[in-house]
Amino acid sequence: MSIIELEHVWKRYESGTETVEALKDVNFAAEPGEFVTIMGPSGSGKSTMLNVLGLLDTPSEGVVRIDGSDVTDLSDAEMTTQRKRSIGFVFQSYFLIPTLSAVENVEVPTLFGTDPTAHERATELLERVGLGDRLDHRPDQLSGGQKQRVAIARALVNEPRILLADEPTGNLDRKTGRDVLELFSELKTEEDVAIIAVTHDDQLRSYSDRVVNLVDGRLTEEGATAEGYGK
Ligand code: ADP
Ligand code: ADP
Repeated sequence: MSIIELEHVWKRYESGTETVEALKDVNFAAEPGEFVTIMGPSGSGKSTMLNVLGLLDTPSEGVVRIDGSDVTDLSDAEMTTQRKRSIGFVFQSYFLIPTLSAVENVEVPTLFGTDPTAHERATELLERVGLGDRLDHRPDQLSGGQKQRVAIARALVNEPRILLADEPTGNLDRKTGRDVLELFSELKTEEDVAIIAVTHDDQLRSYSDRVVNLVDGRLTEEGATAEGYGK
């Protein structure tokens, strides 16, 4: 079953006298164990779609479902609870806390000290992403690829079913980017998580199970085999 779904989602922004339709009748679903990439040019609605999927913004029309439940009309507080429980985020620029060690950064979403198993889980996740020997390093002592691995471990620490990635390779060279995408491919099944990435980077295509294209707010399925579409 789909862990996250958008059904007939529209998003409109009023700016002055103008209305911008950033998402137009978008239908989308992803399953745990699946890596889906959303591609599209600048201004096509990618950030808006990621914000709606991440429960950071609500649609103007349509339904958002997490694990089968309609979350569209939840209060802000309920939405925050649902987001913390179900969704991990990875960003282009990592957003690590510079004064904290790698393992402390991974523990941040668990709210330090409230969960006695958090430190152990953070340590295991860092070992899993290949940073078992960097637990006590601060971000400025890590390479870009290592920082992104810390951010991926942090995104998984609360065992979300959905991992949203905004240009995850945007600040990495091609080789390091490939390593991170390789890691996504392994983690999607190991952690039973749906990975949804938004990007301009063509490199993500070969690591994704599915690519969807967003053009001027409209989403179209690219399909796994281009031949079937006569391309
Ligand atoms: P992308 O991430 O693909 O660059 P966005 O989702 O940021 O696209 O933007 C899609 C469209 O919606 C653009 O025309 C953008 O200018 C507009 N838009 C996005 N956010 C807002 C906002 N808060 N207010 C007004 N217009 C917005
Ligand atoms: P990205 O670099 O990921 O494509 P953008 O620079 O398009 O992101 O947008 C960054 C943030 O600014 C998003 O949250 C988006 O909703 C908001 N935004 C984009 N366009 C506008 C706009 N015209 N007016 C107000 N906010 C906007």
